[in-house]
Amino acid sequence: MIVDAALSVLYVPACAACDARVARGQPLCAPCASSLVPIGAACPRCAEPLAGPASTPCARCRRDPLPLDGIAAPWRYGGELGRALRRLKFDGRPDVARTLAPLVAPFLAAVARATGADVIVPVPLHWRRRAARGFNQAQLLLDHAGRAARLDVPRRAGLLRRVRPTLAQTGLSARERAANLAGALAAPARARRDLVGRTVLVFDDVVTTGATMAAAARALRAAGAAAVHGFAVARAES
Ligand SMILES: [Zn+2]
Ligand SMILES: [Zn+2]
Repeated sequence: MIVDAALSVLYVPACAACDARVARGQPLCAPCASSLVPIGAACPRCAEPLAGPASTPCARCRRDPLPLDGIAAPWRYGGELGRALRRLKFDGRPDVARTLAPLVAPFLAAVARATGADVIVPVPLHWRRRAARGFNQAQLLLDHAGRAARLDVPRRAGLLRRVRPTLAQTGLSARERAANLAGALAAPARARRDLVGRTVLVFDDVVTTGATMAAAARALRAAGAAAVHGFAVARAES
């Protein structure tokens, strides 16, 4: 507690994207916040932005639906939000997860409520990548956003593991992404009793083709989950 108080005295609130000074609890400075693009009308299955109304799934999901009950993402990936998420992941800035929490928290709470989630699971990193980065950005974002939202839904990183290393998905085609992830995620045997019959919400920082969410959903369903939904902070163009 004393350490927390000391840290909060030293802590100068800064924009998650550009480090400009901001008011406490404000995730982005005004110019950076103005670059946020809400997802708008999007496919209810994969969160792909749609030109028309969001009542029907996109063409891809009608043809070849992802093995998920749906994916929600409040923002489009890009602009200064994209920069903030890249800083978190690639520049060794775990503080960005805490700064972004107020931006993510209300959406996460709404999706957890709407899906009836029993548990929220962050997309895991392979232990080697996690060791190199020092943290799992999805888990960190989820922890800060969950705390900011005062969510009473448990957050459980241990329910899903990356059992073999995978290539970074950037630059891979949809088919290559799916092949890269096939069998890469699994629920440990001891996680089964916490998954059987449950509705799980999978949390990630960015969703693109939904291949990672799909791999997570397959692993969770194989372990007995009754329903799997996805939530990502931002949806990138696939
Ligand atoms: Zn800024
Ligand atoms: Zn879709």
